[in-house]
Formats: sequence, structure tokens, C-alpha cells
Amino acid sequence: GKKVIIIGAGIAGLAASIRLSIKGFQVDVFEANSYPGGKLTEIIMDGYRFDAGPSLFTLPEQIDELFALAGLKTEDFFRYKRLEVNCNYFWEDGARLSAYSDLDKFTKEVAYQFGEQPENIKKALDKSAYIYKYLAPLFMHRSLHKWSTWLNKKAMASYFRIGKFGLFHTMNQANQRQFKHPKLAQLFNRYATYNGSNPYQTPATLNIIPHLEFNKGAYFPTEGMHSITSSLYTLAKQLGVNFHFNKAVDKILVKDKVAIGIQAGGKSYDGNYILNNMDMVTAYKTLLNEEKQPTRLLKQPKSSSALIFYWGVKKVFPELDLHNILFSKDYAKEFKAIFKDKDIDDDPTVYINITSVQKANDAPEGAMNWFTMINVPNDQGQDWEYLKAKARKAIIRKINATLHTDIEPLIEVEQILDPIGIATKTSSANGALYGNSSNNRYAAFLRHPNYSSKIKNLYFCGGSVHPGGGIPLCLLSAKIVADMIPKP
Ligand code: FAD
Repeated sequence: GKKVIIIGAGIAGLAASIRLSIKGFQVDVFEANSYPGGKLTEIIMDGYRFDAGPSLFTLPEQIDELFALAGLKTEDFFRYKRLEVNCNYFWEDGARLSAYSDLDKFTKEVAYQFGEQPENIKKALDKSAYIYKYLAPLFMHRSLHKWSTWLNKKAMASYFRIGKFGLFHTMNQANQRQFKHPKLAQLFNRYATYNGSNPYQTPATLNIIPHLEFNKGAYFPTEGMHSITSSLYTLAKQLGVNFHFNKAVDKILVKDKVAIGIQAGGKSYDGNYILNNMDMVTAYKTLLNEEKQPTRLLKQPKSSSALIFYWGVKKVFPELDLHNILFSKDYAKEFKAIFKDKDIDDDPTVYINITSVQKANDAPEGAMNWFTMINVPNDQGQDWEYLKAKARKAIIRKINATLHTDIEPLIEVEQILDPIGIATKTSSANGALYGNSSNNRYAAFLRHPNYSSKIKNLYFCGGSVHPGGGIPLCLLSAKIVADMIPKP
């Protein structure tokens, strides 16, 4: 049979292995780590379990689709439930807000807390749904780099609406206009960080993101985020995909401008198609260093990174939910620090993800597993030891001032992940979480296509290529690629 070699068992690599195996290929996945999942993995220490990377799960139907394609029922492998509270928001001045997934309940809560008209929120979310309706089929579900994407009825419908997609002003400008209360503008500005962008630069088009959380819903996999990886890995193996762990690929073999195989651990493996799920920038610099480089794409600014403190906290805070945000006082200043100064602000917005709220055995009795994260610049050679110490202090101050506690003595276990760690674990360029940044209205066009236009039979999936980073887009990249590779 015809063979596909996939480089990397990240979420996109796993999904592509499933699709291609169902399509009739023999699929071999080479993974540098000893485990699958890349950024979507877990950490276990001293009675605590943490989801190491992504914590927000939307569009579960994408996972359902993979099991359905295999003729199986998702619930036999993977379970999830819709959240009743999407996120709890806290400000240092004492303001608090629960973002209920029930829209009426949420708008009532906002009206009560901030005096914001429910209509303003409903309008904003309708706008978000509108952008999604017209742009998703064009920019997310297909390759941008094939004429057929641009020359069809759906595309035409979008061209006529171009003025309404917010391409010509920033997300912050749109949200300042939309909401009376500055805290609500801040809340909606935060969605820019879902793909590592800056709300003060990125086009208002990214207001597409709240549509996923509010209109389509936020979910929690009942066995934690890592069960997305483990269930897809189980499915792939059941379909006959061969996994080679601890096998870093060193080179993509190219002959007469055709990809013909890979080299790993001094051995060559041939394949009819090569699918790269490794970060595109690193792949060009290492696996394809003898080939022509897409210089302009490689130089694009990257998205932000993250600094995470995995803390075992020996106390239960009833006011905290699965997702919690402790907002900074001056959001503009915080983003200037991240994107302009490549620094960390003294008053960062702190995100705390606590899976033990939903999955009790993730922490010992009377304790919580805190995934405590701030957005930070990607790695530009900063002094991370210094920045980490500074950030830890700032985060602890923020938590104490906002939750009126003394958190430090309650931390009984700690592990830290910084941009360098993210780069080392998954070879993502500069430790960026989402590949190229979207701080530019042309960003969608400045991503690498899902195939190589120079080297035949070489394809790309994952967060560093089209359509972008984050689990939903990574899964779409797998779909686009699997549809593109001709049936064997
Ligand atoms: P990656 O996860 O980047 O994996 C690539 C794989 O390739 C790795 O396993 C790596 O070891 C392997 N590899 C690299 N080089 C080689 C080689 N030479 N040979 C063999 N294998 C190789 N997304 C969301 O949707 N929601 C969130 O809440 C969210 N939060 C995040 C928080 C953090 C801290 C991080 C780090 C990411 C977050 N993301 C989130 C982003 C999301 O995790 C990524 O977009 C997504 O997981 C990337 O998947 P990928 O398929 O591109 O592969």
C-alpha cells in the first residue's frame, strides 16, 4: 500500500494519522518525545495531575467527527460536558463576574455588576457569529492557497461583506465602541490572547473567537484535556497507525524536488507522502536546511508565549472555578510590555486553571491543582531566570491582593514551564504558543500553506501553518491536508 510518514505526534499529527489511515494509507508517525500530544500533554507529581498545555476545549464535534469516520462512538473512548460557567473574572478593586454559559443569565449578571445593557453583549456576540459564518468557511475550513477557495459562491458571499469583518480597526477599538463599561471591553479584549495576539494591534476580525466560547460553548473533557490526546492516540493505534517514539527526524529526504522519505536516528525511511507536523520554522531550519527557504514566512513575528507555574495548593478556594482570570489594572500597559518591550509587566493578568474543580482526583483531598499562567513574550534571548523570579513575585502579589489570601505557604509542589521549556519540549520556534502572530490584518495570508509549492508530496499541518494555532485550527489543518492528499 501507499505510505505516509508524519513528523510529530502533536494534536494535528494525530488527527491527520487517523484521517489518512481511514483513507487507506499505511501511516507511520515519528515523534521526538517519548509520548504523543506535543503541547497537549499532562504533568503528574505528588498526588496532583495537571494538564500541561491547552486548558480550554471548544468545538467537541471535531473529535466526534474523527470517531464517526472510524465508525465508532466517541463516548466509548472520550467524554466531555458543557460548562455552566465559562470563566470567573476577578479584578483587584473587588469587582467579580461569573461568565455563565447561559446567555440570559450572563447578560443579567453583567447588567447587575456593571450596568452594561444586555443588548450590547448580545449585539457583540451576534457580530461574532456573523464573522464566523462568513469567514470560517473561507479562512479556516479550506486551503487559502488554492484557487477553488476563492472562486465559489460562499467566497463571493464573503467578499460583499468585507467591510463588516473588522479588518480595518483593532479589536480594542471595536470593543471600546461596543461596550460602555471598560471592564467589559477588557474582558472581550482578552480573546486576542487565545491565539497569542495583542488586542491593541490585532484586527477586530478576531472578535470571531468569543463566538466559539459563548455561542458554541466551552467544554471540559471529563478525564481532563490530556484525554483528547490519549483517546486520539488509542484510536490511531486501533486503526493500525505505527508510532515511533523517541525518534526525532533529522532530515526530510528530497530527490528532484519530490519528498521521498525521512531520516531518523541514522536510518532512512521512505514514504509516498511526507506530512510535517513539527513547527514549520524549525522544520525548514533543520529538516529542510538544504532546500530553498521561504524567507519571508520564516521572518514573520511569532505569537506570544506563556509562563506557567503548576502549583499544588493545599487549600480549597470555593470562589474559584475551572477557568479563572485575575485581570491587570492597565491592560494596554501589560500588552505593551509583552509585545513591544518583550518584558513582563509588574501587574500581569493571571489565569488560573483548576481541573480538580471538575475532576476531583486531580488533587488530594482539601487541595487544588493550580495551573497558574501569564502571557509573556516569546523567547528573544531575554534573561528568563530573572524574568521568572520577577513574574512569580508579581503573580503572588496579584493573587493575594485579589483573593485576599497568603498563597505562598499553601504551595506544596511546584513545577515551572517557560518559553525555553516550551521550545525544548516541542521545538516550537521562540517557544511561541500559536506559530505566527495574528497582529496584522494580512496574517491569515502570511502563514505557510498546508503543502509545499516547491517540493512535491510534502505537506504541513499544525499550529504553525494554515489556518493557525489552537486545538480547533490544528484539527482543521489535519482535515485540509488529509483531503488534499490524493486517495491511494
Ligand atoms: P505540537 O503540539 O506543537 O507538537 C509537535 C510535535 O512534533 C511535538 O510532539 C514534537 O515533539 C514533535 N517534533 C518536533 N520536532 C520533531 C522532529 N524533528 N522529529 C519528530 N518529532 C518532532 N490551544 C487551545 O486551543 N486552547 C488553549 O487553551 C491553549 N492553551 C495553551 C497553553 C499552553 C501553555 C500551550 C503551550 C499551548 C496552548 N494552546 C492552546 C495551543 C495548542 O496547544 C497548540 O496550538 C497545539 O497543541 C499545537 O499542536 P500541533 O499539532 O501544532 O503540534
